[in-house]
Amino acid sequence: MTLKERQFDAKVLAGGQSLVPVLRMRMTDVACLVDVTRIARLQGIDEESDGVLRVGACVRQRELERSAVAQAEAPLLVEALGLVAHPEIRTRGTVGGSLAHADPAAELPAVAVALGAEMEIIGSEGSRLEPAESFFLHMFTTTLGEDELLAAARFPRAARGEGSAVLEVSRRPGDFAMAGVAARVVQEDGDCREASVVPFGVADAPRRLGAVEERLIGSRLDDDDLAEAGALAAAAVEPQDDVHASATYRRRAVGVLCRRALHSARARAADSGLGRVAP
Ligand code: FAD
Repeated sequence: MTLKERQFDAKVLAGGQSLVPVLRMRMTDVACLVDVTRIARLQGIDEESDGVLRVGACVRQRELERSAVAQAEAPLLVEALGLVAHPEIRTRGTVGGSLAHADPAAELPAVAVALGAEMEIIGSEGSRLEPAESFFLHMFTTTLGEDELLAAARFPRAARGEGSAVLEVSRRPGDFAMAGVAARVVQEDGDCREASVVPFGVADAPRRLGAVEERLIGSRLDDDDLAEAGALAAAAVEPQDDVHASATYRRRAVGVLCRRALHSARARAADSGLGRVAP
């Protein structure tokens, strides 16, 4: 029987680090769990010829974090993984599970959007690629159909002149973020050529902040540019109050985190080669 025939009666199980707590709290109920962790196509960390790092959906978060190729080619991803829960949870939790679960406070969806990743999706009708930007619809909801699986995420490898950083505030280390920002810039001879800024924990899905990015592109990324970008980011988000933090606190946090993340991204871009201004 296929997933489509089972419809709401079946659920895909990967690392179980989000699904099992949900089942235990009786927030959902299913008759059948389908363990996908031994499907070969959902495995592997591979450098592809088109400048892409392909990460199988069932690669454990800890395996990716410790992978030398990911550390060299996708440093933002590795930095974000260090903020996801605790090592014990990352040892079981998968990259695809985090992306498919689409928790609005999760780090990996925001980083996937900031990096311009693509989702490789397979189903009974064949396979398709979907940009991360359109994959995350809203809270805990993606474009995955009921008979589709996330097979892999395809992350562009870091370019020369690229610098990135992800920062968050959470109550305790390992907790979900109350607010966070993933930022990426590409500099050429000191000018900012590309920018992406994606907050998380402050909206129902990760979205790029277009007004902030426009402010940065073409600038020298000097301290005033970064301060203005932070102020624009704070103005652009519309967070909600909840038991963890007020909307006002979250908005301020986004502004500060954006400025600080851009500071780190600028320094890393300069270290990576092309970003350095000629003496
Ligand atoms: P599962 O729990 O097995 O599945 C999650 C959902 O995704 C299910 O609906 C499942 O059907 C679906 N799914 C899984 N794989 C696929 C696939 N290949 N195709 C289609 N659908 C699929 N996460 C963070 O990002 N940041 C945190 O700070 C954080 N803190 C945590 C703290 C605790 C105490 C715990 C228990 C978890 C925390 N997590 C956090 C969640 C963790 O990262 C999970 O590992 C992750 O969200 C889900 O991955 P998983 O492999 O365990 O997926």
